[in-house]
Amino acid sequence: MHLRLLAGAILALGLILPGARAAQAVRDIPHSEWNAPQKPFRIYGNTWYVGPYGLSSVLVDTGQGLALFDGGLPESATQIEAHIRALGFRVRDVKWILNSHAHSDHAGGIAALRAASGAQVLASAAGAHELELGGADPGDPQYGSAPQYKPVKQVRVVRDGEVLQLGRVAITAHYTPGHTPGSTSWTWDACEGGRCLHMAYADSLSAIAAPGYRFIDHPAYVAAFRKGLATVAALPCDILVTPHPDASGFWEKVAQRKSPTDVAPLVDSQACRNYAAGAAKNLDAQLAKERAGAK
Ligand SMILES: [Zn+2]
Repeated sequence: MHLRLLAGAILALGLILPGARAAQAVRDIPHSEWNAPQKPFRIYGNTWYVGPYGLSSVLVDTGQGLALFDGGLPESATQIEAHIRALGFRVRDVKWILNSHAHSDHAGGIAALRAASGAQVLASAAGAHELELGGADPGDPQYGSAPQYKPVKQVRVVRDGEVLQLGRVAITAHYTPGHTPGSTSWTWDACEGGRCLHMAYADSLSAIAAPGYRFIDHPAYVAAFRKGLATVAALPCDILVTPHPDASGFWEKVAQRKSPTDVAPLVDSQACRNYAAGAAKNLDAQLAKERAGAK
């Protein structure tokens, strides 16, 4: 009887939450598994996954040097370098390292990767500031609780909407503040046999705060956050990759591929819209919780 009740409850949850399930984490990868090994592989065309299992690092072969999005944790750098080599590329050919946001789980490995490659590091204006502070930015909702890392100096600042011509690939920076003040999403095209797809590396959108920080106390920040969500929703987006792959169901999509060249399960032109919609719901829930707690 109890088992049947439990099964019924699980079924009911499944019926109630399919939207939420599609829009956000299908399975949260615990922190302990963030740096777990992951075989590198081609996502599509010029774009490869070279991160550990729980933290995305995305490599783009521009034809005239490699561009790398994010460097994982400090301890992820050696794994990312090994993945680049395993694919037949050279670490010293990484000419650009672009950051989503300056938390230790995406920027912690950048100093070592730059040292190994000599690459230029690129970020938004606020992102560059946060990198130079080693992740200790008082304007970050997670300031005080987010782990710090080796500061990254001499970061090239990229403007909102700026199109970078890196080798033969045009990469656009989209400021999407909220998770951090400097959060940035990046888009480019990847082609195979004449079929080009819009790639979106959309930043984390979770409204997470250190103890004592309330988003309701920062209305201008929340307004910028909502603008960032609208930006993500409108990105050119056939294939979405997020800094935490589980935040957009990436591994479930990869598991559905029938072969390593089967891109169909990864293609979803609504992915960015759904990702932003799920995040908007979470932000609203966070604000409601804060308002309830403030009474
Ligand atoms: Zn973060």
